[in-house]
Amino acid sequence: MTRLMIIGVCGLLAFGASGKNGFPKLPNGWHVHDMDRPQPTRVTPGKTDSSAPSDALVLFDGSNVDEWWGGKDGKVEWKLAGAFMEVVPGKGSISTRRKFGDCQLHIEWAVPAEVVEAAQRRGNSGIFLMGKYEIQIQDAWDNPAYPDGMAGAVYGQNPAMVNAAKKPGEWQSFDIVFTAPVFKDAALVAPAHVTIFWNGVLVQNHTEIYGPTEHNKAPPYEAHADKLPIVLQNHGQPVRFRNIWVREL
Ligand code: MG
Repeated sequence: MTRLMIIGVCGLLAFGASGKNGFPKLPNGWHVHDMDRPQPTRVTPGKTDSSAPSDALVLFDGSNVDEWWGGKDGKVEWKLAGAFMEVVPGKGSISTRRKFGDCQLHIEWAVPAEVVEAAQRRGNSGIFLMGKYEIQIQDAWDNPAYPDGMAGAVYGQNPAMVNAAKKPGEWQSFDIVFTAPVFKDAALVAPAHVTIFWNGVLVQNHTEIYGPTEHNKAPPYEAHADKLPIVLQNHGQPVRFRNIWVREL
């Protein structure tokens, strides 16, 4: 038994014998090394870091669009092709049938391989968290545009910290951690925040969201429900999506 192990066992015995005595209390109310704290729930990771872990809700795995609501009569009129779905211009944005607040979202996307336009009209789509706060999707490969409208931006507010773009046509990923805004009696108590990894690269680090995201506007928050659907934008370009899953936090 190593010296460290002996110290550890002695510490555990002392803790068990004397309760929480002698162990400092933390600001969160627990004592240091408190054995009464709930154990973290066991979650089985996916086979890769991009595949859904055991406690995720799969929103799209290529087999159907059952978790989504489309334009007319709720019917999703985007193209479903094998493992991905593709924006069909003129057929509306789509939203999740379920509603989400704080969440971890994994989503993979690809902008068209064929480059036909520039700036905001090249591979533009987006993920509207709560249907209001857009994380921009756009072809950012050799495509200068206003920075707060490029991929990885909180649209119209804060650009990505770096440009982690892959070439048009290649699959890319966002891993998003979103904290919803908090309202009390119609007043804002705490703004939303978002952390984003783009192709594994940190591009938003607990970034404050200033309010709903809109083109050429900076509207203030308006109180809304704790949970709302996630919306994928139809900006008129055939952007593709695959492997979408979410964990409620
Ligand atoms: Mg967009």
